[in-house]
Amino acid sequence: MKKALIIGAGGVGAVVAHKCAQIPEVFGEIMLTSRTKARCDAVAAQLPRRIHTAGVNADNVPELVMLMKSFKPDIAINVALPYQDLHIMDACLECGVDYLDTANYEPPDEAKFEYKWQWAYREKFREKGLTALLGSGFDPGVTNVFCAYAMKHHFDEIHELDIIDCNAGDHGLPFATNFNPEINIREVTARGRYWEHGEWAETDPLSWSMVFDFPGGIGKKKCYLMYHEELESLTLNLKGLKRARFWMTFSDSYLNHLKILENTGMTRIDPVDYEGRKIVPLRFLKSLLPDPASLGPLTRGKTCIGCLIKGIKDGKTRACYIYNICDHQECWREVKSQAISYTTGVPAMIGARLILSGPWKKPGVWNMEEMDPDPFMLALNKHGLPWVERFEE
Ligand code: NDP
Repeated sequence: MKKALIIGAGGVGAVVAHKCAQIPEVFGEIMLTSRTKARCDAVAAQLPRRIHTAGVNADNVPELVMLMKSFKPDIAINVALPYQDLHIMDACLECGVDYLDTANYEPPDEAKFEYKWQWAYREKFREKGLTALLGSGFDPGVTNVFCAYAMKHHFDEIHELDIIDCNAGDHGLPFATNFNPEINIREVTARGRYWEHGEWAETDPLSWSMVFDFPGGIGKKKCYLMYHEELESLTLNLKGLKRARFWMTFSDSYLNHLKILENTGMTRIDPVDYEGRKIVPLRFLKSLLPDPASLGPLTRGKTCIGCLIKGIKDGKTRACYIYNICDHQECWREVKSQAISYTTGVPAMIGARLILSGPWKKPGVWNMEEMDPDPFMLALNKHGLPWVERFEE
């Protein structure tokens, strides 16, 4: 029986706490922490068994180290914000604790995410015999595992990859983001980027789109090309890849609101003077927008996230589409959350489970596609995210 320290008690952290609490034979003791302890206590009150809670500022490494030394976790599940990644990795190294996150490091003052900062920790984790698993959410996360599974079982070479993320849910509010508003808006307003013929090409933000016919009764939706972090590791780890792109659906209402917010300067991340003090407009905007955790009871409809993969098997071309469909209201019934937090929190729990129970315990810093996909794919079916695969020869 192992001990898990969950850091972050927002939409995703609440799902991780629920899902870990369902498996006492692996997660013997759980501590849920966040900057605001009251958020942890509110989640703990919904769970079927007792867990520990604590307030911690994960940007303060000595404070984290003190907490880890007293609770002695086997793993830290980081579902706070990407800004905390390196601090939590430092504390894990100091205390001998395995590490997992769902989003790669991003400096607060520059909207730029990259793996280089976390990949620089490879030697340190290897030397200490500790595992750090990066990006164990849905995308990144399950999408990387879908690729590894396709490579292992269905292809000799993968040539084209399109990761397609559709949230066909509706919360009925004029504008809300389904995960942390600050991180979401930084990601969506960034320039588009995709991989073609061995190099990166850029597009203006949300300037390319396509229509995709989604399964599960969702139907045709417009999807926009974006840069997404799993493309960085997949283009290195899937040898022979000629093209890789990431697409996401947005409603017209979301895009119109976003355009106006951008045009008025509300999405800026540099500090501006306001009545004698400095404020960051995007952080101020975040404080006004709905908390993603509050969207659970409001959201109806489904998500469909999957990988459309084309390549060669036994000398013949083939295409394979692997996807999951998740229903917002079913998630609400099970763990009091909407599907975006659910589809992120369940893979975080599964990644932690596979590290704690052995199959994915491997010293070093790893992206998901570097691990054996089979136990993860089995666990997805078991823990609420069943997947489907469809072939075209
Ligand atoms: P929320 O904003 O709902 O929750 C973030 C939590 O982190 C809050 O509890 C917040 O506490 C806490 N936190 C922030 N700063 C600190 C700090 N310095 N120390 C301790 N706790 C802190 O975000 P979500 O739950 O929606 O998202 C969580 C993470 O999941 C994000 O990194 C996001 O990018 C990632 N994500 C990944 C996805 C994937 O598929 N891979 C998809 C969706 C999200 P407080 O309330 O006190 O500020």
